[in-house]
Amino acid sequence: MTSDLTKAAERAAIQKLAATLGLAGFEPGWVWLTGAGPGDPGLITALGLYAISTADVILYDALANDALLALARPGAQLIFAGKRAGKKSCKQSDISRMLVSLARKGKRVLRLKGGDPLVFGRGAEEALTLAEAGVPFRIVPGVTAGIGGLAYAGIPVTHRDTGHVVTFITGHGADGKLPDLDWNAVATGSPTLVLYMARRYAGEIAGKLIAAGRSPSEPAAVVANAARDDQSVTVTTLGGLGAAAAASMAPTILVIGENVRLRERMDWLGAMAGHALARPQSQPIRDVS
Ligand code: SAH
Repeated sequence: MTSDLTKAAERAAIQKLAATLGLAGFEPGWVWLTGAGPGDPGLITALGLYAISTADVILYDALANDALLALARPGAQLIFAGKRAGKKSCKQSDISRMLVSLARKGKRVLRLKGGDPLVFGRGAEEALTLAEAGVPFRIVPGVTAGIGGLAYAGIPVTHRDTGHVVTFITGHGADGKLPDLDWNAVATGSPTLVLYMARRYAGEIAGKLIAAGRSPSEPAAVVANAARDDQSVTVTTLGGLGAAAAASMAPTILVIGENVRLRERMDWLGAMAGHALARPQSQPIRDVS
């Protein structure tokens, strides 16, 4: 049995933690645009976790880990606002409108997005809609797949010898096509390239980079379901990237550059065989009071 003294000490410790980390201020009528990280629930930030446990309504993406939703407070409304390539999805304008109307009803609205909300996640579009509507909002950054997801694959985005510049690219423009970039500039300007939403056009992108002078034998990797328990990493070459991407599951991050070689020595997750990233959800913690 826990003594009253121990309980008081625990409460004091929680209060100190909350005060130190600034876990307060999610008021009714506010929207918090929050990153959930790439997969491993433990990668959520302290502010993100606070927001999940406080929100009245959570609008979440397909990429936000379900395990985190189990930490919502009892009675919180969970709304799926996902988008997945090839599947029917909510329109961006509907999501933005919903955020505005829920906030105006006096709800504490959490918009939970995979990775970081402002990295290829349309978080900026939502923030701009809220700003225009005069709805107060806060942005809680998250660990983006192209950095943290690669770390889980043992691939650093920068390295003093091989990676002085890194470029983040989306393979999916607003019209669903490959964005019309200056591929020569991309190929010559950045030793490390990290591509989001690029599985479909991986072969085409590799072709453009090779045409611009990158070597077909340069190392590349396809990181699927990064930081999840079903993470898979395929190390290939730029010439083999199209085929490797086509054979992989979504979501995937593509990475091109010498840094990929470092995985041979940096695959810490592989070395932790048996470690489960998605923890069992049979008994979700719903209430700590
Ligand atoms: N805001 C997100 C990115 C949203 S765009 C972030 O910061 O991570 C969606 C794309 O992100 C996917 O198509 C894929 O390219 C990438 N992605 C997100 N989570 C991923 C994961 N766990 N593993 C691999 N790729 C991921």
